[in-house]
Amino acid sequence: MSARAGIVVTGTEVLTGRVQDRNGPWLADRLLELGVELAHVTICGDRPGDIEAQLRFLAGEGVDLIVTSGGLGPTADDMTVATVAKFCGRDLVVDAALEATIADILKTMMSRSQSWAGADFEAVMAANRKQAMVPVGAEILPPVGTAPGVVVPGSDGQPTVVVLPGPPRELQPMWDKAIATAAVQEALAGRTEFTQATIRMFGLPESALAETLRDGEASIRDFERLEITTCLRRGELEIVTRYEPDAAPVYSDLVTLLSDRHGDQLFSVDGATVDDQVAALLAGRTIATAESCTAGMVAARLTDRAGSSSYVAGGVVSYSNQAKMDLLGVDADLLAAHGAVSEPVAEAMVAGALARFGADTAVAITGIAGPGGGSAEKPVGTVCFSVRLAEGPTVTRTLRLPGDRSDVRERSTTVAMHLLRSILLTAGDAA
Ligand code: ATP
Ligand code: MG
Repeated sequence: MSARAGIVVTGTEVLTGRVQDRNGPWLADRLLELGVELAHVTICGDRPGDIEAQLRFLAGEGVDLIVTSGGLGPTADDMTVATVAKFCGRDLVVDAALEATIADILKTMMSRSQSWAGADFEAVMAANRKQAMVPVGAEILPPVGTAPGVVVPGSDGQPTVVVLPGPPRELQPMWDKAIATAAVQEALAGRTEFTQATIRMFGLPESALAETLRDGEASIRDFERLEITTCLRRGELEIVTRYEPDAAPVYSDLVTLLSDRHGDQLFSVDGATVDDQVAALLAGRTIATAESCTAGMVAARLTDRAGSSSYVAGGVVSYSNQAKMDLLGVDADLLAAHGAVSEPVAEAMVAGALARFGADTAVAITGIAGPGGGSAEKPVGTVCFSVRLAEGPTVTRTLRLPGDRSDVRERSTTVAMHLLRSILLTAGDAA
């Protein structure tokens, strides 16, 4: 049996959707990496009664570990530590060393920042004394901001509770320390380890994958030892499999089956995303983008990762015909003859981007994202792509993408990444 965990995300701003939850998914990934089975992620507002109800629910489900996020600040609506202490039947006590640490952090912050000018140090400290209150017997996770985290060891069959702050930049650096504590190690000990592996495909309908998996069930021995989940996202299929380490041969049979059947669509067996692969393939090259309907989304995606400045030259958002002519040198006659959404224009845009930036790799997109602007000949969702390498190869495609405006724009961005991947792979093979 695998260790089981639950996550409680607190915060009225997250509950209402004003702030999108980034902690639940991040913690879920970390737990899965550890081979822990995640049972539930729950979200509630900053009300002690609601937080307690979720703790009770998860404990009732028999989880070994609960991780909470949010509500560790100095203000009155930050109640998580007190609520967890009460739930675990432990008193809150001031930790003198921690109080001194927080005082030091606050002094530094107040001396550095203008916005603290005039603040009364004693008043600020009183508000923050609350953050130095910890449940008896808890392990303290040193603050990254001003709020410390705590780990409350489980007892009498109750789960261990890890209490982390809400801001992701504070929560994430605390994770390794939380996991290293004796209480968490004990909660997760003596359980079966699971391996998790991810396969990614592009351009395969989910139904075709389902059929292959049904065949696998019949043809692969011990197939039931694999826990497979599939998910269709932005036109890509993500296949995540969990298995006990000694079922590795069964998993490798699955990988063989999938690559035999769907070799052309399978692009990753090591969890790498298309973005990871394109970034690696661009090493030593420079890329430029020319975007109409995606208006910079490909450029944004390419520059999402640190270090992209070594291969991204720049991009042009050429939304209007005038911009296509002025910034990319697209011929007015070409636009008049074929329309802005056409393969000849996409090819002129990609050539313009290469030249404009002196790059050796370029991608261009022009399409109709909708809801207006479609015609019988070019309905909404019609998108033309061109990718080109300075050494010669050009690939140009027109696709009809499903969905609404945001789907079409996002899917176009993914298609562009895959076209880049395949043209760069061909170039690599030729070299
Ligand atoms: P603080 O000392 O900043 O009050 P806290 O531990 O009390 O920290 P919260 O009050 O719950 O944390 O949240 C503070 C801010 O951190 C939120 O306004 C939000 O911007 C961000 N935040 C909190 N929880 C999440 C989350 N689950 N996902 C993304 N951002 C979050
Ligand atoms: Mg707060």
